[in-house]
Amino acid sequence: MNATPTNSETIVSKPGQIIAFPRKSSDGQLDHISPSALKDYLGCSLRFYFRRVLGLPEPTSTALVFGKAVHEALQAFWLARWRDGDTAPETITHAFQEAFERFQTVDSLEIKEVDREKLLTKGKALVLAYLDSDHAKQEVIPAGVEVRLEEDFASLPSPILGYIDLVLPGLMPVDYKTVASTPNVELEAFQHELQLTAYQLLIESATGQKVTSREIVYLVKTKEPRIIVNRMPPADKAAIARFWTIAERAVKGIYEENWYPQPGMHCSWCSYRQQCLNWSGKGHDDELG
Ligand code: SF4
Repeated sequence: MNATPTNSETIVSKPGQIIAFPRKSSDGQLDHISPSALKDYLGCSLRFYFRRVLGLPEPTSTALVFGKAVHEALQAFWLARWRDGDTAPETITHAFQEAFERFQTVDSLEIKEVDREKLLTKGKALVLAYLDSDHAKQEVIPAGVEVRLEEDFASLPSPILGYIDLVLPGLMPVDYKTVASTPNVELEAFQHELQLTAYQLLIESATGQKVTSREIVYLVKTKEPRIIVNRMPPADKAAIARFWTIAERAVKGIYEENWYPQPGMHCSWCSYRQQCLNWSGKGHDDELG
């Protein structure tokens, strides 16, 4: 597998600036579609428009910075394992702290010093819990770490692009989720099925081999941190057919610029409620703010 370690793509936007996604080349094609973009569109097409087409900024959060730093620490661990490097706990927790401080600066996250210290302590405890888990202790060399895969499929007019946190032997994609409380793993698996199926299809297309299973690793940031691993079988024919139907309809909606509000629970944490109220669908995007 062409497993080039890389940092995930970051889209930086300015207010009112038309930005990177959906990127279209001169023939009007989207450059690519990612599983997270598909999920975003399906969740609320108008939020997708605000976030990925207009690029309206969203405030960052401590949870986001924390999660990205934990993610990067685990990436450092598996890269070191892959390269026979330094996997000592102090090295990996240092990677967490360094990433946290970097993201805090890049994302302009303002937090009190006392809260920052608490978050660093909590993050290091979570990383140590992972290093002490059976998942980290399994004696395997990964097939890829932070794997970027982009593949064309006949069903879609644009390639699918995905970044897979970790690929373990058996071509098993692994996705990390940092969560605040013990997850309902069945519900989570249902909610992330699209993403996991996309990863499976990307790996199988890139390698010509079958994925044997898929995993979500939950890093639960409770007082006593916990690591929960949910291993699932690969998507079967019916699940893959369902994926393509969903993906085709979502991409069609994006190509046709089909945006409209889809109110629900997710409005509670949507950054664009005011813009949503201002939106009429009549082409006055300059008034959205
Ligand atoms: S407030 Fe709700 S309906 Fe409006 S854009 Fe956000 S998620 Fe969509």
